[in-house]
Amino acid sequence: MATERETAGKRPGAMVRKRNDERKSPVPTFTVTLPSGAEWTPSFIESIDQEKCIGCGRCYKVCLRGVLQLRGLDEDGALVDEDEEEYERKVMVVDAPQDCIGCRACSTVCTRRCFTHTPLVV
Ligand code: SF4
Ligand code: SF4
Repeated sequence: MATERETAGKRPGAMVRKRNDERKSPVPTFTVTLPSGAEWTPSFIESIDQEKCIGCGRCYKVCLRGVLQLRGLDEDGALVDEDEEEYERKVMVVDAPQDCIGCRACSTVCTRRCFTHTPLVV
């Protein structure tokens, strides 16, 4: 009988849940098998460090999933809509984490290293 790895390799794009190689991580994480047969572990957005963020919007432009949103921070540190209220500075926030596909494009373009990502434990 074919193993899960062999079966996934013959079905391009098939998504499988499998245990990581125990030498890499003792925790089982959600892993995708690419059309090439290679395995990829998405790393989903967890948080953005608002102390580091300068509100440049680079991450917003590369996220095609609508996960991120630019907001204002008022003098008390509270989030406000950037186009409706007074604010001290702009910061990026995680608005729709459920839509993240774990591509890490946002993290790649952020020069301030604001992002924390994590694999999905299954
Ligand atoms: S990891 Fe990808 S999908 Fe998720 S927030 Fe970043 S750019 Fe968007
Ligand atoms: S790229 Fe980084 S610094 Fe720029 S808005 Fe996004 S999180 Fe903030």
